[in-house]
Amino acid sequence: MYKMIVGNWKMNGTSADLEEFFDFANDWLNPMFDLMICPPATLIGRMTGTSVMIGAQDCHADVKGAHTGDISAEMLADAGATHVIVGHSERRTDHAETNAMVAAKTNAAWNAEMKVILCIGETEAQYRAGETLDVLRTQMAESIPDGAMKTNITIAYEPVWAIGTGLTPTLQEIADVHAFIRETLVARFGDAGAAMPLLYGGSVKASNARDIFVLPNVNGGLVGGASLRKADFTPICSALE
Ligand code: 13P
Repeated sequence: MYKMIVGNWKMNGTSADLEEFFDFANDWLNPMFDLMICPPATLIGRMTGTSVMIGAQDCHADVKGAHTGDISAEMLADAGATHVIVGHSERRTDHAETNAMVAAKTNAAWNAEMKVILCIGETEAQYRAGETLDVLRTQMAESIPDGAMKTNITIAYEPVWAIGTGLTPTLQEIADVHAFIRETLVARFGDAGAAMPLLYGGSVKASNARDIFVLPNVNGGLVGGASLRKADFTPICSALE
């Protein structure tokens, strides 16, 4: 089964962190799985050239133009990123990103020949109300464009209430939700949907990574806080091998 681990540094990381990154990357010269870090855009160009792939955390939907402070997919690809995360819950919350905007960003990334890691996930209120599957169904229907296939998209399930909280769904809940995501993708995309990688994200750490990574329909993880330090991230990567 295809396997992948992605570290999302979020708004963390300066040149002071590069030495530790290259030290980490040296330990993974030939990983048995796709290993990626998504640093802040300011570091992308300085982190390429190892066997650790480099992704971006967001892109604008347009190719260029009057959008002060934004970065297009083409620019991220030019800087050396091969992938871009879209639809992260922090973008949806901090920048009011809608499913339609996520779909537009996905198409923009594809036009720049980048691959997408598209995040979906329910809030705590939606989880408590038993609305998780309805929320995910709508997010998938509206934010994944036609044309998705295993080579251009990875879906990351990140329950919003599990991000940075130390809380996680039970293993059974993760397995059930990933089975639902898989069924939904297969219903729409057929064989392509059966092959799209699915990642779990939300408080993944060394102590729970192995149990999560062996679940059916879990191809790996999207890791936030525990990807920042080599000492925390290395055992998580080892858990996937
Ligand atoms: P944490 O691993 O810090 O919970 O963050 C998960 C996440 O949002 C990764 O994109």
